[in-house]
Amino acid sequence: MDYLIFKYHFPYSNNMPALAHFGIGLAAKYFFPKIPLWVLLISTMLIDILSFIFIIALWPSHGLFMSVVWTMSAMLIIALIPIILNFKREQDEEMKLTLWGMKILNVSIIIGILVFSHWILDFIGWPMSAMNPTATGVPLLFDDTVTIGLGVYSTWFGALTMDLGVFIVGLAIYLHYVIKIKSKSS
Ligand SMILES: [Zn+2]
Repeated sequence: MDYLIFKYHFPYSNNMPALAHFGIGLAAKYFFPKIPLWVLLISTMLIDILSFIFIIALWPSHGLFMSVVWTMSAMLIIALIPIILNFKREQDEEMKLTLWGMKILNVSIIIGILVFSHWILDFIGWPMSAMNPTATGVPLLFDDTVTIGLGVYSTWFGALTMDLGVFIVGLAIYLHYVIKIKSKSS
């Protein structure tokens, strides 16, 4: 049980939604072209990255409660970056500063949505019983006493359709963006 995340999430054979999270990050680039792709991808994968880093101490990283905590933390960090880096470039002009603050707020909200999208996809996918018969849903709190999930990944058909489907659609949207940028610059 302690290694639930490890068992269900890490070896790719047990971790189908990895591609779907990637697809969401790729698609986001089309809608938010000013945010670097790596930031978008890290955001959608953040909960997995955290569960990998804190694998033993924090296996409940995928619980709804902790996912909300991760989301709010990511939003806060984004909002604080300008302060931490001590950006003051537009401080003299109040109007510009207000606009800039709103931009930061926008980015913070976008990142928050992407981080939380991880939990939503896992909620739709888990329990991934097609890959592991003893898999559970996503926990609400810190352990597997109460878990929820729609179980799309409980069949191979559902798992492949959703994981590949979301990835391919996301990749297509991203490629559309790349082509658009290229045709603009030429
Ligand atoms: Zn995950």
